[in-house]
Formats: sequence, C-alpha cells, structure tokens
Amino acid sequence: AAESADIVVVGSGGAGLSSAITATERGAKVIVLEKMAYFGGNSNRSEGGMNAAGTKQQIADGVTDDSPAIFYADTMKGGHNLNNPALLKTLTENAAGAEEWLLSLGAKFCHRMGRGGGQTKARGHGPCDGSPVGIELMRVLGERADKDHIDMRLNNRVTKIIMKNGKVAGVEVQTPKGKEVINAKAVVLATGGFGANHKMVEKYRPELKGFSTTNHPGATGDGIVLAQQVGASLTDIEQIQIHPTVIKRNGALISESMRARGGFLLNKNGKRFTNELLTRDVVSANELKQPGGIAYLVVDDSIYKKNKMLRSYVSEGLMKKCDTVADVAKMIGADPKVVQASFDQYWKAYDNKKDDLFGRPEMVIRLDKAPFYVAEVTPGIHHTMGGVTIDPKAEVLNKQKKPIPGLFAAGEVTGGVHGGNRIGGNAVADIVTFGRISGNSAASYVGK
Ligand code: ADP
Repeated sequence: AAESADIVVVGSGGAGLSSAITATERGAKVIVLEKMAYFGGNSNRSEGGMNAAGTKQQIADGVTDDSPAIFYADTMKGGHNLNNPALLKTLTENAAGAEEWLLSLGAKFCHRMGRGGGQTKARGHGPCDGSPVGIELMRVLGERADKDHIDMRLNNRVTKIIMKNGKVAGVEVQTPKGKEVINAKAVVLATGGFGANHKMVEKYRPELKGFSTTNHPGATGDGIVLAQQVGASLTDIEQIQIHPTVIKRNGALISESMRARGGFLLNKNGKRFTNELLTRDVVSANELKQPGGIAYLVVDDSIYKKNKMLRSYVSEGLMKKCDTVADVAKMIGADPKVVQASFDQYWKAYDNKKDDLFGRPEMVIRLDKAPFYVAEVTPGIHHTMGGVTIDPKAEVLNKQKKPIPGLFAAGEVTGGVHGGNRIGGNAVADIVTFGRISGNSAASYVGK
C-alpha cells in the first residue's frame, strides 16, 4: 500500500524547510522529498544576506527610518515595476517577522550596515562574522527539522503531482529503490529555480546561451514543469537575472556585499565604468559593454581583516592578493598610470563624499589599505525571477487565476515577488517568508 502524509514538501532548500518546520509545528504529518544526495539546494550557496525592514536588530543599529513601505518602494523600483504588488507587500511586511523567527531558532544573525544595490536603507542581516548567509540559514533550519523529527528523504525525485477530482492527492517519486507513490492532501513545491538548466534558460532567453551559472546542479526547474502539468500558470518566466561578479571558469560567485562593503570595479583598461551600487542587471549590462565583457573587482585590506567570506575567496584562489596599486595594474594587464588615476579619483571622491564620475551614493571605505584583493569577473546566470504563479497565501493559481486545491509553492520556483530583477538579499527574505506562509496555508488546508 502507498504511504501517506498530510503534506509532501518537494525540495529541501530554505523555502522547503521553512515550510516543513512551520507545518509540522501546526501538527501536520510532513514528508520532505529531495532529489539530490544533500539537502539545502541553492540556499546553501546564498552568499549575501537577508533583507528585512524594521527588525529589532536594525533599529538597535540606529537605522530607525526604514519601513516595509520603503522596502516595498526600493524593491518595486529594482524589479522594474513588474513585481506583483500583493506578493511584494506580503514579503516586505513579513520579512522582519521571518528574520526574528530565524533568531528564535538560533540563527546567529546580525544587522549589517552596508547597503546592497538598489537599497536606500541598510536592511541586510546575516551571520555576525560576515560569513555567507546560506550556510547559517541551512544549519539552523536543518537542526530544527532534525529536532522536530521531520521525515526528510534525500535522493528522492518527485516526477509527478497526482490529482483526484480536481484536488491534489499525492506525488509520484523516484527513490533509490524505484518508483513510489505517496498519498498526500497537500503538496508544497519548493524546488527552486532553473538557473542550472541551460536548455530551459535558452528557451526563454536565447541570448543567455553559453553563460556560466552560479546555481547548484539541482536547479533545473522541475517544479515549474510539475506545476504546469496540473494546470498552473506561470509568471514572468523569461525574467532571468545575471549577476555581475561571477568567476568564469567555475561559476563561483563573488558576493555583492564585496561592493556594498566598499569594493569597486575596473575594466581591462584600468578604468571604473559604473556606479558599483546599481542593481545587478544594470551593473551586468555596463560590464558587458567593457572590453571582453569582463571586469575586475577590487577590495582592500580593511575589508579583508573584517570579512571571513573575503578571506575564503582568497584562500580558494578566487581573488588574488596585490601588494600595491601597481600590482593591481599588473594583474589586470592595464597601464599602471591609468589604474593609479582610477584610485586617485576614488580617494578624492571618498574625501569629498561625492563621486563625480558615476554618482556612487555610498563609499563606506576609502579603498586605500594595501594589500588589495582582485578578482576577474563576468556576468553569470544567477536567479530565475519567474516561475509558478501564486497568491499571497502561497496557493498555486491556474490559468483562470483560481487556486489549484491542495497545491502550494514557495521560493525561487515561484514568479512575481521579484519582478524583472531581484535585489540582493531578497531571496533569503522571500524563501523564509513565503516558506512559512506556504507551511501555514498547507496546514490549514489539511485541517491542522
Ligand atoms: P529555494 O531557495 O527556493 O528554497 P533551493 O534551490 O534552495 O530553492 O532548494 C530547492 C531544492 O529542491 C533543491 O535542493 C533541489 O535539489 C530540490 N529539488 C528540485 N527539483 C526536485 C524534485 N523534482 N524532487 C525533489 N527535490 C527537488
């Protein structure tokens, strides 16, 4: 006989585990199915932070003039006004609660003073030691899932959503022992995006052929196909984000926080070419106009001393140490006079608190403490903003914009929250906020 659960959660990233933990705490019997041999998906790789407006930590840090409304306005602008207003309102009003929930689970998060691209207030949160947010996020969620005895099965790939009388009735799953059916009253799709599925990326955005990807190999868009097969509609599916600071040879991502903390970008000629704090799409586009479509991200020792993530980039060989400005020029292969002039301009801009060249709004450091650390970077496929259409309760909608009974979705598999461009730090906010919502909605749906 087939197994049964109240709720099957497909995917064990930040969205899936936030959903599973929430539904379990409501008393639902939950099974989490994960196709990979490890849990955590792309969430494991999340480097930046978690945006939230109005957290206790943000206020304690002296940022008292932020609000969900300003968070909303920044995100709507950054998303080219394509964001679904109701979903964005839900995100911006609930992210602070989501961050405080993570703290209650034991996350060692602090508020961070740097501002990411497209943010008018410092609203990032993440590990206090500056290490990547994803590892701490998944540590906390993984430990809580263990404590709650959540039945999480690795190497279990969901291949079909089973419907009966117009309602979700379970899933078909490929396990190491063969195909199985699990009966369930509700299914939460938390399968992540499709940034590692080059065919699917090319289908929706032919010009991205050949781009490297920062995504884990499981980000193949399965949930989008599974949902389509049961009549779900899709939102903004062609909206794919490229990230401007990716290492070409292996797709390794250098976090946007390196710029937020004070790094700048030079082109192959040794010249700055952009306000480094613009949104990812704009910085990427500006970078692609430079010789070879590449840039050099430069940070200095003042960041290195404080930032664990940067130290790991250097120890992994992703960023190279340059003892002097002349060494930076050598690594880039540019005229040392031009590179020196770029630094001089920047130092002057810092001293005058005004960047005449590109209008960079914030220079948190002077960028003059040798040694410098430099990476050659290029745009790479990073995030798929589009996906399954949901409403603010995380119910999956069909083409008539009606909920498909028993089907919920959260995280990168969904579309609409981020519009045409995702702001850095909003993915973790999204997956935890909508993960919790999907868990609550599914629990209510199954009568818990
Ligand atoms: P999010 O950030 O939205 O939580 P992640 O990429 O972190 O997304 O997590 C999604 C997880 O879903 C990944 O671990 C991925 O391997 C898993 N996954 C994707 N497709 C399937 C599938 N068909 N069956 C089971 N798990 C899946």
